[in-house]
Amino acid sequence: MMMKHVTVVGAGQMGVGIAHVCLESGFQLTLTDQNEAQLSKAREKIASKILNVISNLTITSSPDFTKTDLIIEAIAENLEIKKAFWGQVNPAPHTILASNTSSYSITDMAMMTCAPERFIGIHFMNPVPKMTIVEVIKGINTREDVYQDAIAFVKALSKTPVTVKDSPGFVVNRILIPMINEAAFILEGGIATAEDIDASMKGAAGHPMGPLGLGDFIGLDTCLAILNDLHARFKNDKYKPCPLFKSYVEAGHLGRKSGKGFYNY
Ligand code: NAD
Repeated sequence: MMMKHVTVVGAGQMGVGIAHVCLESGFQLTLTDQNEAQLSKAREKIASKILNVISNLTITSSPDFTKTDLIIEAIAENLEIKKAFWGQVNPAPHTILASNTSSYSITDMAMMTCAPERFIGIHFMNPVPKMTIVEVIKGINTREDVYQDAIAFVKALSKTPVTVKDSPGFVVNRILIPMINEAAFILEGGIATAEDIDASMKGAAGHPMGPLGLGDFIGLDTCLAILNDLHARFKNDKYKPCPLFKSYVEAGHLGRKSGKGFYNY
């Protein structure tokens, strides 16, 4: 299918990034969120970066899902909220339905939609404009042509698709998130300061960001949700979240997006 119009649902850090790269690659784009304040912030962020393609952009709190070729859901990493969203979407018969989930089962979410065979995982990395890899995840019911269209879409954004089986955390977060969790346990144990833990991994392993800074960048609510999903589905305590995540999330310290996390911003 020749895709022209993409609708991104959720105007948080990922939704805005995905909208940004779609606009730069010539797609018509609708960006939506349940939170009007997020939509205003998103409009400012996008306008400050890509003035020339703003004519292709619609920002609205009431999108028409029958008029789009691809819906990319990038709402908060909460399975119940995602399922509730997908359960009420009425797309056109050709529309591809995609989730940017970091971990949840694509097959499970697909079953909430009116078209599980048109549902797929398209998992962008953060920050979307800079990161080159996108994980593409087929659910059990995903049609082959839908998968091929998703691969073509990722390539049209000048990114490299990596095909991954529908498994908790897929590839990237199954490796990354336990590392961030371990760093949080090290901090909690008083083994080293946050600054020294991050400096160690930058200076010794060559990582561009330290694990705690990265956790703040991803969002501690998102990290906790991914750890809970890995822990629950693999039934392996190696994924048990460090209690610091729960405390910080309960306190509203979600990382960069709230101004406070392992660090203050
Ligand atoms: P975020 O908290 O920055 O934004 C989430 C947005 O979803 C908010 O603007 C919120 O208002 C909106 N929202 C919540 N419920 C909604 C609903 N029912 N309808 C419409 N909008 C709704 O989160 P994020 O970091 O952008 O993450 C979004 C998704 O992308 C999650 O599934 C996350 O796991 C995934 N993801 C995140 C990262 C990362 O580094 N943060 C990387 C890859 C994938």
